[in-house]
Amino acid sequence: MYLKTLHLRQFRNYQEQKVEFSAAKTILVGNNAQGKSNLLEAVELLATLRSHRMARDRDLVKEGEVISQINATLERQTGVSELTLTLRRNGRRSVAINGESVRRQMDFLGVLNAVQFSSLDLDLVRGGPEGRRNWLDTLLIQLEPVYAYILQQYNQVLRQRNAFLKRHVETLHATSLHSEQLAVWDAQLATTGTRVIRRRDRAIQRLAPIATAWHASISGSTEVLQIKYTPSIPLEQNNPEEVQQAFLEKIQQRAVAELHQGTTLVGPHRDEVELTINQTPARQYGSQGQQRTLVLALKLAELQLIEEVVKEPPLLLLDDVLAELDPSRQNQLLDAIQDRFQTLITTTHLSSFDSQWLNSSQILFVKAGE
Ligand code: ATP
Ligand code: MG
Repeated sequence: MYLKTLHLRQFRNYQEQKVEFSAAKTILVGNNAQGKSNLLEAVELLATLRSHRMARDRDLVKEGEVISQINATLERQTGVSELTLTLRRNGRRSVAINGESVRRQMDFLGVLNAVQFSSLDLDLVRGGPEGRRNWLDTLLIQLEPVYAYILQQYNQVLRQRNAFLKRHVETLHATSLHSEQLAVWDAQLATTGTRVIRRRDRAIQRLAPIATAWHASISGSTEVLQIKYTPSIPLEQNNPEEVQQAFLEKIQQRAVAELHQGTTLVGPHRDEVELTINQTPARQYGSQGQQRTLVLALKLAELQLIEEVVKEPPLLLLDDVLAELDPSRQNQLLDAIQDRFQTLITTTHLSSFDSQWLNSSQILFVKAGE
């Protein structure tokens, strides 16, 4: 797929800016705080309706304005489409394809696919499990947009169940653990949670071998990367009813602790994606360079998996990461991308690129939101 144009209105520090992309690689160069990452963020929003900076909509709308719009023309094998995302300070969003408003977000997701790679992604290795869950969820949303809806349903049940537990933490006693109302939430948590867990499991099973292969190729050594999804409910059983049953049993086991803590202790909001190298947790393992290699392998695997599933190469958004890779890893990345994936790259100085990159790229200078 190819992003032909991007039009930002009152988005972040952009008042109004049209951009036309004229090469497979575009380098956005400029000093700090000029709007390079903001532009990538706009593309990311069109792809996932999420920002990995975890920004709220009122931060995305330009200061002093109440509404913001991101427009893009996208060319796919199936044809050209125009995507519009309207953001409001009050958090209400609307999306449209070819000028026609789309009611369900999941019908908008999946039109534009993009993989974002920024220095924040190092937290995938160094940070806690929440970041890895978010990463996996964002990937899944692109692989199967209906997942956005499934996840939303789960989170809604989780919030309601938590609110219930919190309200009743003082009044519920061990004897009333089987309160009818709680049982209703338990059942919904198990049903929606099982859908989340099974999809996460399938995605990791597909991603893991690709990432392991990339990792071996980049590190060129005997280091073996393993990615393992460890849901809070064991997944030995294959059919959803059995998983739901196991889910409910797990809830029973933790019932006393839940009432004590007043929060839900079982479910996919507690899952982990374990990254190990030669059986050692990657976090404890290795230098920054080795951790970067791992993240690079994950990102290349994401690109490849999305391409396999959607049958078209997604966009790659490289935010400030290239300068952090040594020349050999830069070249690995360059070779992997070739002109196969349209790539937007931010940098503060062009000197970190070799002539091969510069000669084959469109270069845009970014200054104060223009
Ligand atoms: P760096 O090289 O430091 O990463 P950058 O060019 O990527 O810089 P961005 O993150 O794209 O910088 O832009 C940051 C600028 O955008 C800051 O000056 C910030 O104040 C401004 N900005 C962010 N949100 C808004 C907003 N809602 N309204 C106006 N300006 C904003
Ligand atoms: Mg930036």
